[in-house]
Amino acid sequence: MLTRDDTIAAIGSADDPLPEADQVLDMHGMLVMPGLINGHNHFWGSLFKNTGDGLLLEEWIDEVTFPLKGALRTEDLRIAAYLGALEQLRTGTTTSLNHLNNENDEETIRATIEPVLEVGVRQLVAKELRDAPDPVFSTQHPPHHYPRSRAEEIALAESLVTQWDGAGGIIHMGLAIETGAMWLLHNSTSNEIILDGVELAQRHNLRITNHCSAGSSWLSIKELRDMTGGGDIDYLVRLGALTSNWVMIHCLWLTDREIDHMARENVSVVTNPVSNAYSADGITPLAKMFQAGLTVGLGTDGTYVNCSPDMVEQMKFAALIQNVTHLDPAFMTAERVIEMATIGSAQALGLDHLIGSLEVGKRADIVAFDLDRTHITVPNRAVSALVFSAHGTDVDTVMVNGKLLLREGELLVPLDERAIRAEARARASEAIDRAGIRRRVSEHWRR
Ligand SMILES: [Zn+2]
Repeated sequence: MLTRDDTIAAIGSADDPLPEADQVLDMHGMLVMPGLINGHNHFWGSLFKNTGDGLLLEEWIDEVTFPLKGALRTEDLRIAAYLGALEQLRTGTTTSLNHLNNENDEETIRATIEPVLEVGVRQLVAKELRDAPDPVFSTQHPPHHYPRSRAEEIALAESLVTQWDGAGGIIHMGLAIETGAMWLLHNSTSNEIILDGVELAQRHNLRITNHCSAGSSWLSIKELRDMTGGGDIDYLVRLGALTSNWVMIHCLWLTDREIDHMARENVSVVTNPVSNAYSADGITPLAKMFQAGLTVGLGTDGTYVNCSPDMVEQMKFAALIQNVTHLDPAFMTAERVIEMATIGSAQALGLDHLIGSLEVGKRADIVAFDLDRTHITVPNRAVSALVFSAHGTDVDTVMVNGKLLLREGELLVPLDERAIRAEARARASEAIDRAGIRRRVSEHWRR
């Protein structure tokens, strides 16, 4: 394979003579493939792994996430972005979607994006749009007061999208609009901001990411059904807001009717099976989705509700949980999960014209996993070995946008990783205290 600037220029076979090149990388013994694409992450969660053990999603939102969001400072977001980008790079993931769910302005967006540019990994940054409904949707939770009017919120998002889209050839902008049961019940979104956001997305051809049908079937999902007579997708259909811009995250409790609506509107899905199992909230009905022809990508979710950014680990878990759900060991093959973690996520993110496969003309986002490691000494079948035996940390070489970032496991970007790790630990600990959730991590042995 020959890369030139940011692009894959040629792909040959092992018998072809080597083309003229400034640099030749020996990949013998390596599994070379398109970089993994994490379709759903929240980078600030990289500071707060293992704080949500033993909590349902509804409990975790109220007891962990909201207190932490209130405690975050701009420099916490910056160090979390360094850590998230390095975690991604060192586990063979070249692209991630960063679904912003804190409240951002110019300064915090800068702190979130600059480290990603410096590390050099690709990211779709989904700027959140928030609004308080008037009247309130639910009296269960007090309405949150946002610092900007709806018009100001839309104008800020439009300005940030225009400013950052295309930065460094590796930043792609999108929107995050919450319309799921849990966020409706928390009064953190309004019909008007959903409709205005869809209009903005259509005007700039943006993806909108959204936590959809995530939660416990007997709690938030049931409450929304009792209030509205339907599920999260039904809600958007009634609003006239379901378009192909949406990337629906999780999608655990959808009815067949809702899946049909998604297929008709060409809505994409990103499944996050480890996160869903960590919170014990459900399993995405992937068989029905594949049958309906939906595009499905794979993600981790924020590592505060997964505890690992490793996309290889997600592939293994995605295959196993689906196979045991269907009692069919041939349903989720290694090939299918690799496709979900590469071209599937690329299609879901609307970036498949650039990334997700090794093809001439696409961006040179390439990874090489070293199969000459003790735990995979005899891989037998490389595709299966990647999914079922390897770890993300077996990655040897990572190239993003034609730039070599990791070689023989060594970081080629001039960053002091040790200092970043130390600052991340210190800032996380301080934020945990400010959020008042120290007890979540101070119990050493729970029963
Ligand atoms: Zn999430």
